Amino acid sequence: MGVSITNDCTGCGRCVRSCPFGAIETKGRLAVVGEGCTGCGVCVDDCPFGAIASDSRVMSGDVDIGLYRGVWVFAEQRGGRLMAVSVELLGEGRRLADEIGTELCAVLCGENVGGLVEELFEYGADRAYYADAPELAAYTADGYTAVIYRAILKYKPEILLLGATHIGRDLAPSLAVKCGAGLTADCTKLEIGPDGRGLLQTRPAFGGNLMATIACPGRRPQMSTVRPGVMQKAARLPGRAGEPVDLMCELGFRFRDGDIRQRIIETVRSVGELVSLTDAEIIVSGGRGIGGPEGFDLLRGLADRLGGAIGSSRACVDAGWIDHSYQVGQTGTTVKPRIYFACGISGAIQHLAGMQNSDYIVAINKNEGAAIFEVADYGIVGDLFKVIPAIIEALDAPR
Ligand SMILES: Cc1cc2nc3c(=O)[nH]c(=O)nc-3n(C[C@H](O)[C@H](O)[C@H](O)COP(=O)(O)OP(=O)(O)OC[C@H]3O[C@@H](n4cnc5c(N)ncnc54)[C@H](O)[C@@H]3O)c2cc1C
Ligand code: SF4
Ligand code: SF4
Repeated sequence: MGVSITNDCTGCGRCVRSCPFGAIETKGRLAVVGEGCTGCGVCVDDCPFGAIASDSRVMSGDVDIGLYRGVWVFAEQRGGRLMAVSVELLGEGRRLADEIGTELCAVLCGENVGGLVEELFEYGADRAYYADAPELAAYTADGYTAVIYRAILKYKPEILLLGATHIGRDLAPSLAVKCGAGLTADCTKLEIGPDGRGLLQTRPAFGGNLMATIACPGRRPQMSTVRPGVMQKAARLPGRAGEPVDLMCELGFRFRDGDIRQRIIETVRSVGELVSLTDAEIIVSGGRGIGGPEGFDLLRGLADRLGGAIGSSRACVDAGWIDHSYQVGQTGTTVKPRIYFACGISGAIQHLAGMQNSDYIVAINKNEGAAIFEVADYGIVGDLFKVIPAIIEALDAPR
């Protein structure tokens, strides 16, 4: 596996600058690949004349895992605001980095995002690798992958954590393929293994009936995506400082025409983006027991009085009563509110996977044997169409 220079080489020297390993030089107006070549493929993409041939663009063969150090968190931002999941991953990343005895780094992409760097330090990052470029203003797989892949090659993190958001789920496999690394999606638990460095990544498997723990001992970085709402948010320490690293400058990287194949034609905010289940402190969720879409009107009455959000089981989504963006559970959103009301929800394992870490669970169900009562802190056995109006009446009563 390797790269070779073809007759199309003009000796422009661009590949000399782009090789993260200093493995190319120009001799007599021709590029020459030296022994330090790792076959990473960066120069192949960078040559404007298509003069570098590669038998594979994926890193393969043995990886010297001893060279890889540090825990990285992909600091996802939208419109210059750090996503809540990034703060959760910084909390988890800090814990893992401390256990290994290494540093925690954040990697951030966007345009005019420099202001977020201090926030990353305050949330626990020791170093923030940031890439600020007009081409990164909107997320594209090609744009983000190009920068972060080069950063991985240069700085060699041993662990990389990303949020299991739409962006994280697109970016993580793209990076994993480029790095020839494994990737465990939708992890619910991360631990350091007995060797003190390996990452044990636990996620639901077989429809949520089993928890599988996955390790990637031979490749680096060890990559996981984690759903929003699963990990504890990092505490913010105002004034905490760290080391900023300007990636575009340090990598000597500039985008060229054609580097980014995706084009953003229009951005449409979906209803889903307006539903902020992960941020809600109180969620009133409905299941098949609410009887139909109008059942959510009753739940909304309760949620509005409590300043809460509406959630749903998959049964209601499948029935077309409510949009998927409201679904809580294994194939929906994972939530961790202060209070979770489960109204007419039986408590299937796939639903519990998304809400059982709530601080308090209040279950309303007419079947006293329903599984939801096993995780509930407060259980009300009764008809929700009588119980909920009674709660609303009590809340509305003058005090
Ligand atoms: C791979 C996979 C992924 C899945 N992902 C998810 C997921 O992300 N989220 C999810 O929710 N499910 C998910 N499911 C589906 C899950 O297995 C259950 O089928 C679903 O959660 C059941 O929804 P439910 O509790 O609303 O309905 P049911 O199980 O039908 O329960 C309805 C409950 O309402 C009660 N009830 C009825 N009438 C009243 C009344 N008037 N007052 C009070 N109580 C009443 C009943 O006693 C019953 O307990 C998944 C399944 C699979 C196989
Ligand atoms: S970038 Fe391409 S054309 Fe330029 S020196 Fe390298 S191989 Fe030759
Ligand atoms: S494949 Fe990677 S290491 Fe080898 S010459 Fe190209 S950029 Fe350098």
